[in-house]
Amino acid sequence: MRATTIHAPGDIRFEEVPDPRIEEPTDAIVKVVAGCICGSDLWPYRGHNDIDPGSTIGHECVGVVEEVGSDVRDIRTGDFVIVPFDHCDNTCAHCRAGAHSACDELGFTESGQAEYSRVTQADGSLVATDGMPDDALIPSLLTLSDVMATGWHAAVAAGVRPGGTAVVVGDGAVGLCGVLAAAQLGAERVIAMSRHEPRQELARRFGATDIVAERGKEGAERVAELTGGVGADAVLECVGTDQAMKTAFAVARPGSTVGFVGVPHGVELPVRRMFQRNVGLAGGMAPVRRYLPELLDLVTSGTIEPGLVFDLTLPMEQSPEGYRAMDERRAIKVLLQP
Ligand SMILES: [Zn+2]
Ligand SMILES: [Zn+2]
Repeated sequence: MRATTIHAPGDIRFEEVPDPRIEEPTDAIVKVVAGCICGSDLWPYRGHNDIDPGSTIGHECVGVVEEVGSDVRDIRTGDFVIVPFDHCDNTCAHCRAGAHSACDELGFTESGQAEYSRVTQADGSLVATDGMPDDALIPSLLTLSDVMATGWHAAVAAGVRPGGTAVVVGDGAVGLCGVLAAAQLGAERVIAMSRHEPRQELARRFGATDIVAERGKEGAERVAELTGGVGADAVLECVGTDQAMKTAFAVARPGSTVGFVGVPHGVELPVRRMFQRNVGLAGGMAPVRRYLPELLDLVTSGTIEPGLVFDLTLPMEQSPEGYRAMDERRAIKVLLQP
């Protein structure tokens, strides 16, 4: 098959690689209908993560089941499925506790920007739609493989409740989905921290009531002004840098929780401030499968349209250009069509 691969920082190719195949009886092979580039794909692209040269890259996709292993019972060939980036059995003790991203049988999508992708634990991981979805729904369904579920997880972990104030740090696709999640979960005020005009606009469309363009200390002061000096009831940290985490704790009111979903890179926690102000930290890698049934309902009913985060669609063979566009922040999120 043809797949997006990474050879070195900045060196993305679309090239022939071996087809994925059923390796375990619980596997499925999915023919990708749409894939996309994630903010976390930019970490290796920018040289911040180790790279296995020539390996496939991409962990977000939706598609049609092409083949299933002999132990797969619920998912069938021909089903249109959401593929969570993190695969799970949905039955072990951790899954039953809602911590699917720490499943005993955890696996990951490894070729989401390719023609085919292997899914481990197909019955536990995959959620099928009721028949083939309308083309117009595909971008929103695609966000459920990671960014919308991850933004939702940030909001749940932060304890967003009806009537409260939520602050979202980060205006990437996950942060924007976090805004949508916080609004959907009933936050009365959703403050999006964003400096970029098109992202501010989308944040408003997703339910942001206020935008704070300032960063760091000034950003925190602005949030303090907006909240009468109290701070936010819930904070969603959707970046993963030390600065974003510091901002998150600076705007959190005493007794609140920061929900963090940005993959941490060089983060040092302000433990003393957390202690003095009783601010907690919760979250981590999103248990996508846990939220899928609910999010699928919200998308198919038209209640939410997270697919609006895609502002560039390219044929899959142009995935290298997709990476450049996201790296240079010319695009919020890139959808790739095989
Ligand atoms: Zn992702
Ligand atoms: Zn499990």
